Amino acid sequence: EQKQTIHFGAGPAKLPQSVLLQAQKELLDYSGMGISVLEMGHRSSEFDNIMDKSVSLLRELLNIPANYKVLFLQGGGSGQFSAVPLNLIGLKEDKCADYLVTGTWSAKAAKEAEKYGKVNIVHPKLDSYTKIPDPSSWTLNPSASYVYYCCNETVHGVEYNFTPETNGVVLVSDMSSNFLSRPVDVSKFGLIYAGAQKNIGCAGVTVVIVREDLLGHALKECPVILDYKVQADMNSLYNTPPCFSIYIMSLVLEWIKSNGGSAAMETLNKQKSSMIYDIINASNGFYVCPVEEACRSRMNVPFRVGKKGGDDALEKEFLNGASERGMISLKGHRSVGGIRASLYNAVTLEDTESLAVYMKEFLKQHQ
Ligand code: PMP
Repeated sequence: EQKQTIHFGAGPAKLPQSVLLQAQKELLDYSGMGISVLEMGHRSSEFDNIMDKSVSLLRELLNIPANYKVLFLQGGGSGQFSAVPLNLIGLKEDKCADYLVTGTWSAKAAKEAEKYGKVNIVHPKLDSYTKIPDPSSWTLNPSASYVYYCCNETVHGVEYNFTPETNGVVLVSDMSSNFLSRPVDVSKFGLIYAGAQKNIGCAGVTVVIVREDLLGHALKECPVILDYKVQADMNSLYNTPPCFSIYIMSLVLEWIKSNGGSAAMETLNKQKSSMIYDIINASNGFYVCPVEEACRSRMNVPFRVGKKGGDDALEKEFLNGASERGMISLKGHRSVGGIRASLYNAVTLEDTESLAVYMKEFLKQHQ
């Protein structure tokens, strides 16, 4: 019998139980072929169907306009830190890009882009990653090739609840940790990317949604496997793709669809995250989330435990108690400490309630 464990990890993260069961059922014999997806040729008609199904489900779930390509690439989100400038910084002569740096991941992306062109951080530098600087303080460069931001900063729990206005400059977003957690108007973007291992599958595949007119501008030195045009022309099959990860993603996308799509995910994610933030807000400073209310993430809820804004011993006790109750992976990122509860799509309301009940109990015990 399977142990009852509730997984709040930031990624790789929980997958829906029904997806795991289906993958288990099909592991040895996919669709009567007598072999596993793990062994299947990437140019077989069966794998073609898995690719087609994944693309069409993504198109449907996100209402992706016809003039966008959907690519499945490797190299993770970090690969895209390089691929974005390699493909897009040459869109304009100045080879310059605007970056919003609101946490670890956008900081890394900006640093990588500096290898290939000029990077302009559009807002005053932040002392801590706990807010999104007001757009009135941004100086966007009209001759930038693109404007880049990370829609949800996974480590710091900072999420945009608005889409930046760029006055016609191509907008690029890293949605790795809130992809398909809410509806998004793809037509406002030049490019969106997301690693699968948080909301839509397991590690190994990164989804890139890119407007067609942005293809074909890659720098000479762009590695061929990261060249969006090459991959678009070859339906992401320039080389062997991460077949099994794409298959798992197709199952998760079906699960999202049968559970009401991105709008239903948003409703649920609002409910789950409010449940935890409400306890933090009502704890009289026992639980502290340093992030400004307006940009608190619905996906990753970071908080400290203890009156003085974080008490290591108490946090250890909190984690141990959680683990005794079957709740794991709640430790904050090593760079910030404390606790982080990641509430991706597959984390249920009941899972979240278990955490909420425990947080209230722990508060009562230590007040
Ligand atoms: N962007 C975001 C928002 C992330 O959360 C992560 C990983 N946690 C990355 C990029 C990097 O992804 P990868 O580890 O797949 O390279």
